[in-house]
Amino acid sequence: MRKRTALVWGVAVVCFIALMLITPAIPQSQEYHDFADQRKFFGIPNALNVISNFPFLVVGVIGLVLCYHGNYFKLRGDIIPCAHGCIKSLQGELWGWTFFFIGVAAVAFGSSYYHLRPDNSTLVWDRLPMTVAFTSIVAIFIIERVDARKGTLSITPLILAGVISILYWWFFDDLRPYAIVQFVPCIAIPLMAVLMPPMYTHSTYWLWAAGFYLLAKIEEAADKPIYNLTHHIVSGHTLKHLFAAMVPVFLTLMLAKREVTEERLSLLQSWRISWTKAKKNGNSVETLSSTYSEVPTDESR
Ligand SMILES: [Zn+2]
Repeated sequence: MRKRTALVWGVAVVCFIALMLITPAIPQSQEYHDFADQRKFFGIPNALNVISNFPFLVVGVIGLVLCYHGNYFKLRGDIIPCAHGCIKSLQGELWGWTFFFIGVAAVAFGSSYYHLRPDNSTLVWDRLPMTVAFTSIVAIFIIERVDARKGTLSITPLILAGVISILYWWFFDDLRPYAIVQFVPCIAIPLMAVLMPPMYTHSTYWLWAAGFYLLAKIEEAADKPIYNLTHHIVSGHTLKHLFAAMVPVFLTLMLAKREVTEERLSLLQSWRISWTKAKKNGNSVETLSSTYSEVPTDESR
């Protein structure tokens, strides 16, 4: 097992170094700061892009309060009963979710600050909290799906990797490490959500969250077309903020609803089982109808 972990790390490091050697640096384009909707309302410049960050504060604070108040999410090392005995909820999960909700709440401040005066120096504060939230999620996923101890140990290094990728961009004007930190979880999280057996029920909420994140990314890319399409009511970037805020909403709902699962089946396995059941049902209906059709023939003889 240790050998495998070392191998995985080795391959990852080699891939990273190769990518950094082969690909050219990606500087931050200044066009990025030129948003479609730059209207000023109530004296606030770029008003809708600033105000639309408010939901992050609401969800972040609610999540954080529920993490600690009355143990609503059952994350505080409590004994959780399930059909096959009891498991102890993990301290690492509480830390992971705490960093996640702090990151989400901080996005409201960082992103508002950036959109008030969009340039590279303010963009750092937009990206920093987002990256903390993002990397915490990866650690939570490792705790839940791979190994609780490794996941807990990975919280600090993962968050650090995210912060370093932003510092690297800041000092060398090269976005490649930041792009990798963003891209790898986008592939790894949905894949792990489908393929690896969960510890808890309500796994599909991860996919809902990933779906909203994807929509947010599309809206971000279509900032100007959406602004034109809606006759200058709302821009793609404002919608991006609102849709991205749905990600922590779904994850909070999942935390509130989930239970320790009795049978550890991956989503793919449970989809396969229900598909096989549906197929079997289809077959039995066919058999039934063929039996009925045979009965009158027998009677007519
Ligand atoms: Zn933004």
